[in-house]
Amino acid sequence: KETEEKFQFQTEVSRLMNLIINSLYKTREIFLRELISNASDAIDKIRFLALTDPNALSNNSNLNITIWSDPKNNILTITDTGVGMTKEQLKENLGTIAKSGTSEFLQAIEEKKADDNMNLIGQFGVGFYSVFLVADKVVVTTKHNEDEQYIWESQAINDFTIAKDPRGNTLGRGTQIKLHLKEDSLSFLEEGVIRGLITKYSEFINFPIWLWTKKTEEVEIDDDDLDDESDKIEKKDEKDEKDEKDEKDTDEAEVEDVTEEKPKKKTKTVEVPGWELMNTQKPIWTRDSKDVTDPEYEKFYRSFAKDEAAPLAWTHFKAEGEVDFKSIIYIPSKAPPNLYQKVQEFTRNIKFFVKRVFITDEFLDFVPKYLAFIKAIIDADDIPLNVSRETLQHHKALQLIKKRIIKKTLDMITNLSKDEEKYKKFLKEFGVSLKIGAIEDNSNRKTLAKLLRFPSSHKNLTTLDDYISRMKKKQTKMYFVTGSSINELENSPFIEGYIARGYEVLYMVEPVDEVLIQHMPGHGGKMFQNIAKGDSKFEDNDLEETSKLKSKYIKLIDWMQSTLTDFVERVQISNRLTSSPCAVIAGDWGLTGHMERIMAAQAF
Ligand code: ADP
Ligand code: MG
Repeated sequence: KETEEKFQFQTEVSRLMNLIINSLYKTREIFLRELISNASDAIDKIRFLALTDPNALSNNSNLNITIWSDPKNNILTITDTGVGMTKEQLKENLGTIAKSGTSEFLQAIEEKKADDNMNLIGQFGVGFYSVFLVADKVVVTTKHNEDEQYIWESQAINDFTIAKDPRGNTLGRGTQIKLHLKEDSLSFLEEGVIRGLITKYSEFINFPIWLWTKKTEEVEIDDDDLDDESDKIEKKDEKDEKDEKDEKDTDEAEVEDVTEEKPKKKTKTVEVPGWELMNTQKPIWTRDSKDVTDPEYEKFYRSFAKDEAAPLAWTHFKAEGEVDFKSIIYIPSKAPPNLYQKVQEFTRNIKFFVKRVFITDEFLDFVPKYLAFIKAIIDADDIPLNVSRETLQHHKALQLIKKRIIKKTLDMITNLSKDEEKYKKFLKEFGVSLKIGAIEDNSNRKTLAKLLRFPSSHKNLTTLDDYISRMKKKQTKMYFVTGSSINELENSPFIEGYIARGYEVLYMVEPVDEVLIQHMPGHGGKMFQNIAKGDSKFEDNDLEETSKLKSKYIKLIDWMQSTLTDFVERVQISNRLTSSPCAVIAGDWGLTGHMERIMAAQAF
């Protein structure tokens, strides 16, 4: 104990731990999901290192997670053979929160209900501290290839200790977390409960998860043994079992022996303890999509995207040809709150594997910003396994993959647009994304334009193509007007004359619409026409009548023109109005009142 050092938790950590403990009590079972996910991340890391460093695995060649419960001492132990932590990393990772945006997160969690917090925590990745939901003392033993074995220990509150392990480097490599469970959390020692949680949360972990279980078995006995108490429990030595398990991890899973029945022999019931494999680890994306059920896709989404809600849509495909890869792309049912803000940090939405080995999810711009909401798994075949993450970003194959992912995503959205109900939901969350796409993505603008929907004077929502099909015979342009709500536009004097003449007018009520029209001035061979600008544009204008009116009201117009000279460019007779006496119109090249308001709002 002489090497033991004491450290204070960073203030944010203490604050966070308090919040977690106070607000997540009902969902405290998530601690196991967090620990298994950390274990899996740690194994991903060592496996990635092993791609380029043949010695990385020499301290322990197994890659697995084991869970062991000790009801006598109320201790639950989770061990992984991952990368482990050096002493410095221990201090840093389990004592501070390195992530930017921590205070924002703390604020958010303080304001939300407990149900949402579960999601927030997963997304923010403060996972480890959730151990204090169920434990009043936590001991982390860890061994990294580049350091000795260390023990971290904390009873929550304010501080933790770190000491060199006097037992030596017993782990070889990896991390062992011992939870001394609180009185109210002892149910997490029960095999059935742990088993349930693993299937609920960790089914899709790509490494074997072994649970120490006790099976009851009927075994044959000789007549001589009959004197023994028949219910006496036989216990095998734990050490033997562990060796057996390690063998299993290196070989493929063994088929269990089926003992032939010999009816004449006497039997007795014994409890046989042993390691039981909890997951199959065949990644869902490597399976044939025909064999995967919808609930499986949904469950997988929840687990990898850390989203409690079911996805809105997904596509699972195998790309072959220029570049070979497998992928599942999901569209979430809700947009994240900061979707349209500049993405500074990687979103971890795209998980990239090469031949089933996890490589990275730290892409900044894997898909264009307007598709930043998708969540995807990509597993490539052709990329050399020994490239660094940096070279990988620029690898030719990756550029091809990106292109295919964009295309497949747009295909999926096009498909989704055939289901009116679902597509409405999609547009509510991501409609603006499509418009941003139409503004920014020159090469896919045509596809994106077909996916856009606008309210109009004829329809709740219309496609541009449908609008064009309803255009009047002589109409050459797509009429639209911009404003802040459909209601405002329906009552706007700008449209009166158009509606009265039976023209359909598109209502553009989103701030992005004005910019969209600047970048996409037309579609399907028709140009857009903002009817709040310049002279009225009816193709069936009665020029004779207009000029008659002009001469009739010439004096009034002159008087108005001179009176309003400081405010308007000109006053003129128009046939665009039916019931309103007048309307203020922007010049052909001027800004509409709506655009002026948007720009004024943005200036702040
Ligand atoms: P996150 O997993 O989002 O990074 P956590 O709070 O779950 O956040 O974990 C904090 C950090 O502690 C991890 O990023 C990792 O560096 C380290 N860590 C946690 N558990 C382990 C483990 N089992 N093996 C190695 N490192 C770990
Ligand atoms: Mg974590």
